[in-house]
Amino acid sequence: MEAVTPKTKKSADAGRLDWRELMGVEQTKSELIQVMDSGRMHPVVMLEGREGLGKRHLASWMVARLLCNEASAIKKACGQCGSCIEVLSGTHPDVMILDMGTESIKTADVETMRGFFDMLSPGGFRVGVIMNADKMTLEASNRMLKTLEEPPEQARIIMTTSRPLGLPATVRGRCLRWKVKLPPRDTVIKWMRVILESSGQETGTDDDLRMWATRLGFSPGMIWREITDSSENSHLLRDSVHSLVTATSPSRALQAASDLARVQKVRVPELLGAVEWELSKLNRDRLSKSEDRLSSSDGERATRHRRRLLREIRRRAVFGKITLNAQLVAESIGLCQWEEGVL
Ligand SMILES: [Zn+2]
Repeated sequence: MEAVTPKTKKSADAGRLDWRELMGVEQTKSELIQVMDSGRMHPVVMLEGREGLGKRHLASWMVARLLCNEASAIKKACGQCGSCIEVLSGTHPDVMILDMGTESIKTADVETMRGFFDMLSPGGFRVGVIMNADKMTLEASNRMLKTLEEPPEQARIIMTTSRPLGLPATVRGRCLRWKVKLPPRDTVIKWMRVILESSGQETGTDDDLRMWATRLGFSPGMIWREITDSSENSHLLRDSVHSLVTATSPSRALQAASDLARVQKVRVPELLGAVEWELSKLNRDRLSKSEDRLSSSDGERATRHRRRLLREIRRRAVFGKITLNAQLVAESIGLCQWEEGVL
């Protein structure tokens, strides 16, 4: 029986490591597969590349690929076998991940990993991962160097860094340094479109997406963060618009309008799009349930009225006769079941 060792040491912000979300690095993956399958894989691999390229996810994919029960047959990590599931849930007994986030990696942390390899049983196979390896203190990297110089035969070590020069040259010299490249720009654009569509957000033209991606240096990680943030924002917007068009009193409608304008700083085009979306949804709900918070005929009348109002607002916006104020527009939409809009 083997002594039980702490398998993972994670910082609070270690986050999820589900390589199945990883996109845009197909090229890197197929190159790595060739090396891993050649039987000549260097025992120590350092994944290098700037922030947001998916190095951490790529590292977890490599771990799964090394341990997956199906890998030899299907040439990839299946994501479903017992081994893959243990890697995904961070409970694989032969994997240790040192992920201290932005904090420094101390000698004691490195010693834990060395101990993990020391207890490798004959015929066993273990993988150690050091995320942000440049966070190792000088003393820690010197200690780790011993393992890097003479790794046990059945051990693999994967490190990630966005600052390779932050590591001593002696450490860099002991690794197969693998540059994780930026995915092709067209791939990033296509990928953005898929994520935006799947989260129900507007996609715009390819040029819009290209401008957006350029601002974030085409980094999939940063784009992903911004899209998921704005997806949360768009849920917030939809919730408020729902409150606006289903308000049960003028004062509630005014409250929702003020919330949209002041708190969410919604712009008129966004607001109109969200209202249209909400009206279609209410209509669908009414058809399927034949009841609503508003009585059915009232609801239909209000929806017709609001659609007329939306057309009117759009027409005025197009012809630029007045400067549309988001709060005023929201109020008109909210109040129109009690009175004619103020526009
Ligand atoms: Zn598997």
